[in-house]
Amino acid sequence: MKEIIPSNFKISPRPGEPNAEQYRVRREIGQKLGDKGWLYPAIKKEYGGGSLSGGQITLLTQELEEIDLENPPYYDAGGQMSSSAIQVWATDEQKQHFLPQTTRGLKTTWLLLTEPHGGSDLASAKTQAIRNGDEYIVNGTKTWVGHDTAEPPDQFWTIVQTDPTAPRHQNLGFIIIPANLEGITIQPLETMERKKSSVFFEDVHVPAFNLIGGENNGWKVANTVMEVEHGGNGRIGKNQNMERFFEYVKSTSFNGQPISKDPDIRELLADIYIEQDVSRLFGLRNFWMRHARVRGTYEGSQSSFYGKMSGLKISGKMNQILGYFAVIGDEEKWGASNGWIEHYQRQAITAVHPGGTQDIQRTIIARRMGIGRTVKEEAAQIE
Ligand SMILES: Cc1cc2nc3c(=O)[nH]c(=O)nc-3n(C[C@H](O)[C@H](O)[C@H](O)COP(=O)(O)OP(=O)(O)OC[C@H]3O[C@@H](n4cnc5c(N)ncnc54)[C@H](O)[C@@H]3O)c2cc1C
Repeated sequence: MKEIIPSNFKISPRPGEPNAEQYRVRREIGQKLGDKGWLYPAIKKEYGGGSLSGGQITLLTQELEEIDLENPPYYDAGGQMSSSAIQVWATDEQKQHFLPQTTRGLKTTWLLLTEPHGGSDLASAKTQAIRNGDEYIVNGTKTWVGHDTAEPPDQFWTIVQTDPTAPRHQNLGFIIIPANLEGITIQPLETMERKKSSVFFEDVHVPAFNLIGGENNGWKVANTVMEVEHGGNGRIGKNQNMERFFEYVKSTSFNGQPISKDPDIRELLADIYIEQDVSRLFGLRNFWMRHARVRGTYEGSQSSFYGKMSGLKISGKMNQILGYFAVIGDEEKWGASNGWIEHYQRQAITAVHPGGTQDIQRTIIARRMGIGRTVKEEAAQIE
């Protein structure tokens, strides 16, 4: 790691997005990880990954956590979702072309699914990509997408209608759209937690080669994307917010003793610890299933649902423990844990929606268990 992480690299002490300089350094770290196949370590070497085992990835994750970095060290949700689906659904030529751009850290990707008329019903996407010779002409709007990354992304991973006349689920496609094409506008969108964006497409000409999984086959591709977004790949990283919170209550005194020594507070702390640990264990189990090649059923959505709900419970208990101090943000003297706890209060609320709301996760779990249906729905294939 010494040759990859600059010796003076320090994670920003306060919440918020990395500034331009920090973002540049993170991209450099990403490319160095990519050179070794460590940026997307589970992906096969021939596509720029590392072909690493679950055990090796655990070690790599721990090394990066020593300096509070996750992998990738910058926002690349679209890269994470597209690389999984490309491995399953793309032609070999497309895999050779698109995967290394992501796995080597050369290009960043935003995930563009949600549209202004409603995000939960993904199959109702209205953005159109109509074939015209060797190109698709794209028109439509996506919203609540992206991240405040100090730089726009290099490309978008997008669900579109490829045949507006075909029946639902048979009318869709998944396409990679370079972000610098003419006719694309990115408009910032403030949310209570972070800056998102809306992206507008007006007669954008995209090479037909960029359609992944074949025309009108987008719903199958979407299922792989969703399986990953709902937690099918699992998670092994530590929960940095919880670590910061427990550190704060142990190191901060109130009425002459550390907050964590108060007997009533200790009960609440135990509740928080259990909530976050159950969530951690679901992530760990899914990570193991993924690497042991155990085909899942409802486990991804179970992990996602539990994480969303426990986040709300934990933020409520933090509030009970710290009172006003839990909601004082980026303020030198009073902001608990440099403002991270206030940030968590907002994040716990916004985290209920992305990647399928809690209602959607509940519906998926029921379908996979065969509740209300005669046939149990199968989980999508992930690679
Ligand atoms: C912080 C954040 C980050 C995001 N990042 C991205 C991103 O990177 N890319 C992207 O494409 N999108 C992103 N989104 C959008 C997100 O995916 C959508 O908000 C989400 O899919 C829900 O869609 P919606 O907001 O249109 O709500 P709606 O679909 O309109 O739902 C409104 C309410 O109705 C409920 N509901 C809807 N359908 C059902 C049903 N069938 N059964 C029961 N209840 C139902 C929902 O649970 C919700 O409570 C992000 C959103 C947030 C808040």
